[in-house]
Amino acid sequence: MALGSCSLMWFRKGLRIHDNPALEYAAKSSDFVYPVFVIDPHYMKPDPNAFSPGSSLAGLNRIRFLIESLVDLDSNLKKLGSRLLVLKGEPGEILIRCLEQWNVKKLCFEYDTEPYYQAIDVRVKDYACSAGIEVFSPVSHTLFNPADIIQKNGGKPPLSYQSFLKVAGQPSWASSPLSTSLSSLPPVGAYGNCEISEVPSVKELGYEDNGQDELTPFRGGESEALKRLRDSLSDGEWVANFEKPKGDPSAFLKPATTVLSPYLKFGCLSSRYFYQCLQDLYKNVKKHTSPPVSLAGQLLWRDFFYTMAFGTPNFDQMKGNRICKQIPWNSNEELLAAWREARTGYPWIDAIMVQLQKWGWMHHLARHCVACFLTRGDLFVHWEKGRDVFGRLLIDSDWAINNGNWLWLSCSSFFYQYNRIYSPISFGKKYDPNGKFVRHFLPILKDMPKEYIYEPWTAPLNIQAKAKCIVGKDYPRPVVLHDSASKECKRRLAEAYALNKELNGLVSEEDLHSLR
Ligand code: FAD
Repeated sequence: MALGSCSLMWFRKGLRIHDNPALEYAAKSSDFVYPVFVIDPHYMKPDPNAFSPGSSLAGLNRIRFLIESLVDLDSNLKKLGSRLLVLKGEPGEILIRCLEQWNVKKLCFEYDTEPYYQAIDVRVKDYACSAGIEVFSPVSHTLFNPADIIQKNGGKPPLSYQSFLKVAGQPSWASSPLSTSLSSLPPVGAYGNCEISEVPSVKELGYEDNGQDELTPFRGGESEALKRLRDSLSDGEWVANFEKPKGDPSAFLKPATTVLSPYLKFGCLSSRYFYQCLQDLYKNVKKHTSPPVSLAGQLLWRDFFYTMAFGTPNFDQMKGNRICKQIPWNSNEELLAAWREARTGYPWIDAIMVQLQKWGWMHHLARHCVACFLTRGDLFVHWEKGRDVFGRLLIDSDWAINNGNWLWLSCSSFFYQYNRIYSPISFGKKYDPNGKFVRHFLPILKDMPKEYIYEPWTAPLNIQAKAKCIVGKDYPRPVVLHDSASKECKRRLAEAYALNKELNGLVSEEDLHSLR
């Protein structure tokens, strides 16, 4: 036990030094600060039965990214005279043990709206209160406090992006500069018999080096995040003219968007700092794009989904979710597996799914295409199944944003134009007529002539043989025929919508809730 006033800084997301109000508060008038990260087996334990390397909840790309982020955080803390203390176990239990043993007077951690953390936090806060420990848990993962927006909107989250913008206005902190750096930190106190380790390697966590032929090009950590932000913002014209729907989803050597999502997910980059940099840049250009399509507009989408997720019970499921259309999705495991394992026979869809497996990141419109294909476009598989696959494999996997976008893409909520379906053939072709993206992620098709690259089953047999890719042997035939499958999907959605409407007209919102 250290003598003097001790604070414990509990890192979960928010893996950064810049714009970190919890860390700043922990450092203020403290003799010692314990910067702690708890490796949570629930999230990190290898699952030998998973279809690709990783735990049951996170693919290896994300685990590796997290470890890289922790190594970088540790190194940045060391520059300030501190270090990261890594512990392992159920986070709530470990935290309470540390608070007991280290005579902590202040517990600081970033507020988290995700249900998993909310449950842990209640336990830890209850203990801290009973032990007379001050708790400081600021909102700094998002631009706004979702609870404030909900309160301003009369107790409900605003259901559309435009109404969200109206209610939200400017973030309260935006008028004064954010404090972005600490120059030093109080030392770490003695830690007695608590089992502290350095940041483990992925191998030490129990993962084999899987010899994947292509690793994700994105490295974790605050240093990398700030560099990537600087690089993105260095082209002021690109930022000022950014229009999300105009980006090319097939661009992979130089993606059409910032690829800052993995850094925002873990809080290696502060969304508030990012937003402030954008506002500064906008002030210095003659004209710039606006939400929803601008880059600042993208950060506001993020806050929109956080607010919706926070204010909607059962946001992550169809049942009991009052904003979700009730649709009789199927649970066809074979079709789901073909989609997940990039075996649908549609090269555009399969290449995107390989990019997900190998890189843990895809362009937003590419995500649109595969999510639409799995659900309302072709396979009619439940959006919750696709959400789980993305949830595991994306490096930027984010509870609020992932669920929100799956609700959107499956026409279960927010967006209802189910007649607008992405073609798994012509959509990709429009951006990438030569099929560079497909050839990169599906090398079996690398010699297929461009006329057939999006529909290899239509190539004459001699051409397939010349390209060393026989459809049905080297590459699968389409799992469904898009024209008939998409018609059937539309018919089923029309039926489900009619039924939802009937229910909506017949019963009160509360009754409707209990029917689900
Ligand atoms: P940029 O265009 O550079 O945008 C900057 C930041 O704005 C992003 O990093 C992200 O934090 C935010 N943002 C951009 N688009 C959206 C959006 N539609 N909704 C909310 N925030 C947005 N994004 C995630 O971060 N995590 C997820 O788990 C996730 N799941 C998705 C699932 C589906 C089915 C779909 C269609 C989209 C999903 N997205 C998710 C949203 C979006 O595709 C990614 O945020 C974006 O592609 C990340 O790339 P970027 O950083 O280059 O984005």
